[in-house]
Parts: sequence; structure tokens; C-alpha cells
Amino acid sequence: MPDNEYNVSRETPAPSVSQGFDDTPIAAAAARASEVLTPGGAGRLPRPPAPRIMTIANQKGGVGKTTSAVNLAAGLALHGLGVLVVDLDPQGNASTALGIDHRKPGIASVYEMLLDEVPLRDAIQRSPSSDRLYCVPSTLDLAGAEIELVSMVARESRLRNAIDMELLTELDIDYVLIDCPPSLGLLTVNAMVAAREVLIPIQCEYYALEGVGQLLRNIELVQAHLNKDLHVSTILLTMYDGRTKLADQVAAEVRGHFGEKVLSTIIPRSVKVSEAPGFGMTIIEYDPGSRGSMSYLDAARELAMRGVAEGRNGS
Ligand code: ADP
Ligand code: MG
Repeated sequence: MPDNEYNVSRETPAPSVSQGFDDTPIAAAAARASEVLTPGGAGRLPRPPAPRIMTIANQKGGVGKTTSAVNLAAGLALHGLGVLVVDLDPQGNASTALGIDHRKPGIASVYEMLLDEVPLRDAIQRSPSSDRLYCVPSTLDLAGAEIELVSMVARESRLRNAIDMELLTELDIDYVLIDCPPSLGLLTVNAMVAAREVLIPIQCEYYALEGVGQLLRNIELVQAHLNKDLHVSTILLTMYDGRTKLADQVAAEVRGHFGEKVLSTIIPRSVKVSEAPGFGMTIIEYDPGSRGSMSYLDAARELAMRGVAEGRNGS
């Protein structure tokens, strides 16, 4: 498949206002990436009317949840939007990719937010990647949280209660992306109760849809009992290998199943994408002109263009 068949942003009108990028490494990357993407500048993407809180979930491991969370976040931030990534996986890979030292003793993390009611204000950190990119890191303590939460009051709503909407407004945060662990336990349920939207990354490989039925049933349960606003808004196809027929078959099957919810942009399989977190970087900083970077920028743009109509979480 030629490159441009899945790079929709070239047909998407360029956002109009271009202003005030900061001088962090990601902004330097922006200059190069934006030239290729939209001659004349990356510009700004529209802000949603209220912060969009999105859970990135799929109980299958290795489908690109974390990679998509950090790179979509970086793409949105690059285009002028404020983004918070909540790292809800004890492995802390999202924190690492965003350049946050989550092994430093004594830092407040998502664990303390969930278990000890530490306020978001104390756990949030700014990523060195961009002035507009924030992260609540996770620590290994979180591995015990699934069990510790069981006996707690409001155990499913603790993340929702911890997300301080006033602080989001104060920091101009437009997107909250919650990176889920590869399970459907209480951490993922907390993410689903806190969010309004679910983004499901699906890998273009064998058994791509395996487990997705179970995930959808869990989303329905949460919707019925805990969060009536929850819905699957976005499907992102990841790790597409154009050399295999299978990848096209999977993409077609997923589109047949989910229709409009599937972003037109497909993330290609690329070694660069997998190398970036090893340097504490998003792909957009690590190799801005690469296909992986371009496709995450395209996907971020698509997400933002679609999201103008999405409203405030839970109200
Ligand atoms: P999950 O969070 O769903 O477990 P990850 O985002 O951690 O999945 O991705 C799993 C592995 O695949 C990681 O090693 C990651 O670097 C790699 N990976 C993710 N997306 C791509 C891609 N587009 N191309 C190549 N490798 C990728
Ligand atoms: Mg992950």
C-alpha cells in the first residue's frame, strides 16, 4: 500500500492560526515535522469545548496502548493543545517515554492519588518534551493497587474523584489520556469510570479482535452501572505492515465492524517507534520526519478534528 493511502491529514484542511510554540526539544522537532506535514507550519488544532477524558484500553498486552498514548499526546501538544497522560500501568512505560523519572523515591504518583487521596496537583509533572504536556507517573507500587482497591470505599470511582477539573482548566489541559494496564481489573475500571471516551488500539496482526468482545462487554457494564456517558469513540489501527496481506484483511475487518469510529490514519510498524522510549522520547522528538512520527501526528490531528463536538466528562 502506498504511504499516502493511510495518511489522511494531507487532505485535511490545515488549521488556521499558527502561534507561540515553545522552545523545548519537541518544538524543534515540530519545525521539521510541520514542514513535511503542512507547508507553512503545523498550526494549532481546535480546542474541544471541554477537556476530553479518554481511556486507552485493550486488555491484550503489546497492542500499542502506551505507544499511542504518549505519541498522540505529543502530537496534540505539538499542535498547541494541553495534554495530561495518566499512567495507570505499574510498568510505567508511558512515564518513561515522556521523560519522567518514576523510580525516584518519594514522588507522588497515580498510586497515591488512588489510594491516599493525594491531589492531582501534587502528583502531576510537566514532561520535558513540551510545556503543554503533563504526566501523572506510575510507580511499581501500583502493582499492588488492584488488590488494595478491593476493600476501599468507592473503589471504582477513585480516579474520577481525583481528576480535578479546576486544575485542568488552570493548566489549559484539553485532553486527558489514561494509559491502561493489560487487564480488565479495577485499574481499568477506574479509568473507564473517569473517562467519557474509550480509544481502543488494535494491532493489525493475527487474533487482532481476540478479546475485543470481552472489552466491549465490560465497557457496556461500566456504562450501565457506573458511567452512563462512557462510549467507544475511537479505534486506532496500529503496527500495520503493508507487506502482508493479513494486515489489510485485519484493517478491513475492523473497519467493517466499527465503521466511522476507526481513524483513517493507520500507524505503521516501524523500528523507530519502538526505539524512541528507550531514549525517554516520543517518536515525534526522536525522529520527527519518520513515518511513525508522521502517522501519529496525523492521528492526533484526526482525533482533534473529530473531537470538537465531544463534550465535558460526565456532566
Ligand atoms: P501496550 O501498551 O498495549 O502493551 P506498547 O505500546 O507498549 O503496547 O507496545 C508494545 C511493544 O511494541 C513495545 O515494545 C513498543 O515499542 C512496540 N511498538 C508499538 N507500536 C509500534 C509500532 N508502530 N512499530 C513498531 N513497534 C511498535
Ligand atoms: Mg502499555
